[in-house]
Amino acid sequence: MDLTPTADQEAFRLECRRWLQENLPWEYGRGLPPLFDDLGEEVAYLRKWQADLAEARFVGVSWPEEYGGRGAGPLHHYIVQEELARARAPELVGRIGVNLIGPTILVHGTDEQKQRWLPSILPAQQLICQLFSEPDAGSDLASLSTQAVPAGGGWRLSGQKVWTSYAQFADWGLCLARSHPVEPEHRGITAFMVDMHAPGVDIRPLRQITDESDFNEVFLNDVFVAYDQVIGEPGNGWRVSQSTLGVERGTNPRQLVIHLQLLDELFRLATETGRNQDPVIRQALAQAFIEVRLFQLQNWRVLSRLAHGLDHGPESATAKLFWSEMSQRLHETAMEVLGPAAPLWRDDSQNPGEGRWQRSWLYYRAATIFAGTSEIQRNIIGERILGLPREPR
Ligand SMILES: Cc1cc2nc3c(=O)[nH]c(=O)nc-3n(C[C@H](O)[C@H](O)[C@H](O)COP(=O)(O)OP(=O)(O)OC[C@H]3O[C@@H](n4cnc5c(N)ncnc54)[C@H](O)[C@@H]3O)c2cc1C
Repeated sequence: MDLTPTADQEAFRLECRRWLQENLPWEYGRGLPPLFDDLGEEVAYLRKWQADLAEARFVGVSWPEEYGGRGAGPLHHYIVQEELARARAPELVGRIGVNLIGPTILVHGTDEQKQRWLPSILPAQQLICQLFSEPDAGSDLASLSTQAVPAGGGWRLSGQKVWTSYAQFADWGLCLARSHPVEPEHRGITAFMVDMHAPGVDIRPLRQITDESDFNEVFLNDVFVAYDQVIGEPGNGWRVSQSTLGVERGTNPRQLVIHLQLLDELFRLATETGRNQDPVIRQALAQAFIEVRLFQLQNWRVLSRLAHGLDHGPESATAKLFWSEMSQRLHETAMEVLGPAAPLWRDDSQNPGEGRWQRSWLYYRAATIFAGTSEIQRNIIGERILGLPREPR
């Protein structure tokens, strides 16, 4: 693994760093991002931020230039992620489109489809959601039951999706539906771009333990989807979904950014509260540092594979398992550091961080579920890396 930066990569890093120094909203630089009254307000604010970042062409740098990227390689993409972490910049609100659905359309979409959807994704002019999971199809996605029935000029979709992040703000969703019911499970699925404002789309936000509603139930009641909204060939949706899930479970620069920032915040919190003097806390802080560093090295190893034209490799399962469990340990350490303030919520002067840590601690309970549960990652590691017998079906 040789990741010595070239002169061009160093220059790009400086360009990105300088831009962030000049343009990042000051609250973020201080490590105290604004607390919004509701998610809608936050999404509107973050759309504007993503639009600015995209205008400077620091979103989707590996996308082709004609769709707003720079046609750059994976190393440039990583450089941006590291600089965003260093500057404590906010997450991309359009990350599902930028990181998952856009790359899927790049692989499987026609030229017209690319022209239609891609240019609006990087500047967050349109937000995209992922309509895969159903109440009875999560880990076993191929058993999904949303139906697609041929109709004049296209298809009609009926069924229920669940856990659809940001569906209430999305303009489009990439939806998997069963179009060929007589075919075996994996072969009878088609991928559709669904207009989230179309008649028959009913979005119901789910209330979470954080008192927020990031994700939703989405009911599709006889929703019409035209032929030109099919991504890939009809009946070939499983292949399309594997591109999306491959990116989701492959490298994870987004989680690397988040955890580099969290580690920084954790050390600051421990220093400000004086809890860094406690020998037990010091051990936990050292452990958190080691684990985030290991995660960074793991990311670099995958990056090195990508830079040499190889794919992610089966280690993406170990990476997902590692970061999600690491994250929960890091948040437990944060709660230890907060000590008696840990049970407090946001509006309390005795609460360092004004509840951000508590919110994040609750949110990261989900890390071992989304993008493939820990049990599923262990199955993959057992079967594909260790060569153990396959789980009986
Ligand atoms: C925060 C969050 C955001 C999400 N966002 C989206 C989104 O935007 N779009 C979307 O489509 N989905 C989304 N999901 C859904 C996510 O992909 C599913 O929750 C996940 O795939 C697990 O499916 P499930 O919840 O149906 O659990 P199940 O598959 O029903 O699993 C239940 C339990 O059984 C275990 N289990 C299942 N199968 C096996 C097996 N073969 N061997 C051993 N153990 C097994 C699981 O590990 C788990 O502990 C999101 C989930 C979360 C938590």
